[in-house]
Amino acid sequence: MRKFGSLQFALLVGFVLVVIVISTLSYFTISNIVGDQSRQQLQATSTVFSLVEEELIKPMHIAQTLARADIFKPYMNAEPEQIRTFLQDMQSRFELMFFIASEPQQMQYYSDGDELALSEEETPWYFRLKERQEDFYAGLGHEQDLRLYMDIMQRDMNGDLLGFVGIGMPLSDFVDTFSHYNQELGYDFVFVNSDDEIVLTSFADLQPRGDERTRLQNLSWYSDWYKGPSLAGNQTNLVELNEQDVLITEVPLDVLKWRFFIISPLEAQQQAMSRTFLVNLVIMTAALLTLLWLLSRVIRRIQQSVSSKIYTDRLTGLFNRLYIEQAFEEIQQEGKSMSLIMADIDHFKEVNDTHGHNVGDQVIASIADILGDCLRKGDYLGRWGGEEFIVLLPNSDLLSAEQVAERMRQSVAFQPVAEGDMVLDITMSFGVTQADRYGALVDLIHSADKALYQAKNEGRNRVVSRAFNQD
Ligand code: GH3
Ligand code: MG
Ligand code: MG
Repeated sequence: MRKFGSLQFALLVGFVLVVIVISTLSYFTISNIVGDQSRQQLQATSTVFSLVEEELIKPMHIAQTLARADIFKPYMNAEPEQIRTFLQDMQSRFELMFFIASEPQQMQYYSDGDELALSEEETPWYFRLKERQEDFYAGLGHEQDLRLYMDIMQRDMNGDLLGFVGIGMPLSDFVDTFSHYNQELGYDFVFVNSDDEIVLTSFADLQPRGDERTRLQNLSWYSDWYKGPSLAGNQTNLVELNEQDVLITEVPLDVLKWRFFIISPLEAQQQAMSRTFLVNLVIMTAALLTLLWLLSRVIRRIQQSVSSKIYTDRLTGLFNRLYIEQAFEEIQQEGKSMSLIMADIDHFKEVNDTHGHNVGDQVIASIADILGDCLRKGDYLGRWGGEEFIVLLPNSDLLSAEQVAERMRQSVAFQPVAEGDMVLDITMSFGVTQADRYGALVDLIHSADKALYQAKNEGRNRVVSRAFNQD
């Protein structure tokens, strides 16, 4: 029995180990997924950088370089026709829309042929920028036809204002590409100017309207950004936005004196991964528990069938000697008092000799049934060998054991055993003993045997009892 217990324990330990191994494996798998995810994130972020570089920074550099190389200056107060030709030429060369806003002429010329008189109503930016200190400004134009303008101030040798030159870039391609990223990867972006005003963003409610601009400082994630722990060494941080964890990367756009922020949600990936992890864990645990349950059932079955074979006498179905020995030890360990009866069929040799060994066997089996019917639930009846039986009676004194033996004797004696068409009168002799203090089983049996021997000698079919320590 104990061996099976330890087998079950080993199985349990095995099960726990399997769970630990699987969980560890899952952990590493997830770590790898997170690693892959970060790499993908980095790749995607660099795609955004390239887009910004290609669509915004490069044209700005071109315009700035040309302006600083004084390419435009000779045309600031040239003949309108000359200006038009020059601008058209520039447009076809650089595939950008250039403009000149001339102070002496109070006119603005575009490379696409448009012309506009400078006025507070039509070109308010011109009058606003004239007053500023910086010679360079980047800003957004019309809301409907979204364009990024870069205005570079031009002065003559004396420092007098000649006007502004610059480029106007349609942002629709840029915004389309970004909205594609937004759909594919869940990215959002926010561009802010040097005054920390949001000039361009994928968040519809933060989009500038007319002169109305949202300031970066008004956004909760931005304040969290500077409060929160910075991810080592770069300008990326993990903050909470609309109850979601998002990674925000800040990128300076020096050429525009802008900054932009790429906002990528982690929640979706985190949730998907946690869900996979949990589902896996539940499935694995359920599978393993089922396995364990099945195993324990199988083991119990084996245990039952093995123990019934090991501990049972085949002919009578009674406990065998091995079981009685174990039961004796258990009763002893529990500290219970105990009586013992040895019973032997009288003149059994004659049964064998007269009717044959097979009939003898059947008689032994029938006697086993009769004896069994005389006992209480907690008593142990076993076949000790041949036609000898043994009874262990826990919590029983000598007198009550003697009464049990007498009941058995009478049952056997008054109950003829029918074998086929024969009816056999069988009697048995009983030796009873009781242990006041516990000795070895063999000593107790020896004592009972003495009593049995006496019963045989006194004529058989009787009960003799004897205290354990009686000489
Ligand atoms: P008594 O006990 O009254 O002194 O006489 P007895 O004839 O019963 O003598 P004893 O106990 O010495 O003999 C036991 C006989 O039981 C001997 C053996 O042939 C027979 N025997 C032992 N085991 C079996 C068995 O499993 N089946 C059968 N049929 N006979 C058995
Ligand atoms: Mg015998
Ligand atoms: Mg006998």
